[in-house]
Amino acid sequence: MSQTKDKTRQGTGAKFGRVARFVIHYWLIAPGLFFSLLSVRIVSTLIDVSVPVAAGWLVDAVASGKAEDPAPAIRALIIFLTLGVVFHILRQSVTFIANRLSARAITAIGRDAFAKVQRFSSDWHANSFAGATVRKITRGMTSFDTFTDTLAFGLVPAFIVVTGVTMMFAWRWPLLGLVTGLSVLTFIVVVVTLSVVWIRPANVAAREWDSKMAGVLADSITGNAAVKSFAAEEREDRHFAEVAQGWHWRAVRSWDRSAVSGLVQAVLLLVLQLGMLGTGLWLWTQGRATPGDIASLIATQFLITGYLRDIAQHVRSVQRTVNDMDDVLEFRNAQLQVADQTDAKPLQVAHGAIEFERVTFRYKSASASLYEDFSLQIPAGQKVGLVGTSGAGKSTFVKLIQRLYDVYHGRILIDGQDIAHVTQASLRNAVGLVPQEPVLFHRSIAENIAYGRPGASEDEIIEAARLAHVDEFVRGLPKGYATLVGERGVKLSGGERQRVAIARAILAATPILILDEATSSLDSLSETYIREAMDRLAEGRTTLVIAHRLSTVQRLDRILVFERGQIVEDGTHKSLMARENGAYRRLVQTQSGGFLAEAAQ
Ligand code: ADP
Repeated sequence: MSQTKDKTRQGTGAKFGRVARFVIHYWLIAPGLFFSLLSVRIVSTLIDVSVPVAAGWLVDAVASGKAEDPAPAIRALIIFLTLGVVFHILRQSVTFIANRLSARAITAIGRDAFAKVQRFSSDWHANSFAGATVRKITRGMTSFDTFTDTLAFGLVPAFIVVTGVTMMFAWRWPLLGLVTGLSVLTFIVVVVTLSVVWIRPANVAAREWDSKMAGVLADSITGNAAVKSFAAEEREDRHFAEVAQGWHWRAVRSWDRSAVSGLVQAVLLLVLQLGMLGTGLWLWTQGRATPGDIASLIATQFLITGYLRDIAQHVRSVQRTVNDMDDVLEFRNAQLQVADQTDAKPLQVAHGAIEFERVTFRYKSASASLYEDFSLQIPAGQKVGLVGTSGAGKSTFVKLIQRLYDVYHGRILIDGQDIAHVTQASLRNAVGLVPQEPVLFHRSIAENIAYGRPGASEDEIIEAARLAHVDEFVRGLPKGYATLVGERGVKLSGGERQRVAIARAILAATPILILDEATSSLDSLSETYIREAMDRLAEGRTTLVIAHRLSTVQRLDRILVFERGQIVEDGTHKSLMARENGAYRRLVQTQSGGFLAEAAQ
């Protein structure tokens, strides 16, 4: 038990250290702004501390002066007012400087995190929830802002005021310094401990359930079509009510704890005031304090209580923001899983021949290798169909060619160059992909097509669109190529999305091409269009087609039949069909539902 506690404490310490380095790094991206912020903040707080002293002078000047000669009192008043004006000007300047510093740093944090996450491997992305990643990045950005504000407007000034006042008192009246120092210390220790040990866990639990409620809402509302079709509204109501109930008592507990802590805080502040003013009065009875000193003391204790009042909230805010920033740090510190080697060169593709040389590959989360000592050669310009049951390893095969994963042993060569030694960008620019479920961005159709080759002219885009039969459906749209396709392309049908992806690939004109046939059934017109477009696209390139409908591969130069990470058959449609009881022949027979079996007899 104590070991676990120790570990947590170490973890927390390490986390604060990490976050401190992170925050300092981003503060210092604009050193001028940062140091101005710090110095203006220190000066403005010191002025704030001296305002009560000036108030004391004013009271003394009035008490000991004569009405006929108000000059000393007026002088004291001018000093008092000037300090007030300068304080407000400086305080506003702090806000303006902090605004600029935060905006600069937040932009940099977002940019850095985004750049890193984009480059994480496909494996990482497959294992992470996109929504959670987005939330972590945006929360990390806002947390930096809150953290900077909490320090600049809360903790740093509170620290300066408390130590400044205590030292000032200790220098003039050691007893008052001692009383103030001790009461402030007690206040801080009690309030911060309550906040960290008692309130925060309750807050965290309430927030967790708050997210759960949001999750249930989102899940159920996005799945509304399923809810409707099963008339499951009441079931969903009950499910939500259960989660809401879980949140309910945790929220009350967390709010109540805050209220109790507020009460303790109020009592401690009263004790602090009592201690300071009582000691002040005693000093006055001893003739060691003037009426002005008492006035200054009253003003000072208002100042101190003002700064201390929110300290618990500030500490909680620091804790929360540190946790949120630590999530972003996770991205920052993570190693890229598939990285360019330091001496990586651009891939030079003259022909587009592919070779697997004794490749062994295993998914990290899998217990066994998918490919073991796997070798294969695909000559340049060959059109190869990959077939086999689902899970046989076809998609993995093409992912390895794109180097979305690194192999454990062996090499994959393109035109004789090991793809592990070339830059990923040059490799992916050489290998085009028309995926099964093309990913479109919520941008115009023209922009989506041009994604294949940024900077393509409008004529080139339209030519590619024509070849891919995109033109047919775009012409019917009111905004034509400027039509936005909706999130992930939801406004287009499956067949239309795939045609846009083909247009992209035509524009990209890569020497190697991978086509992952759509599994979802397409209408026959779409299918004809797509087949025609694919044939056109494949002309003159090394082409790999992952075929789900075997009719597609018959025309190809070569068919590879995959079974559990192995190629069990390799040949043309004709030669494979000629094999009595062959794997390919069996697949074709299953797909055509016995028709072929009869026809073959
Ligand atoms: P196919 O494309 O032939 O349907 P895949 O190449 O997608 O087959 O999958 C081959 C095997 O690898 C399957 O058993 C599948 O479950 C597994 N697999 C695929 N992707 C991953 C992954 N990201 N992590 C772990 N295992 C995976």
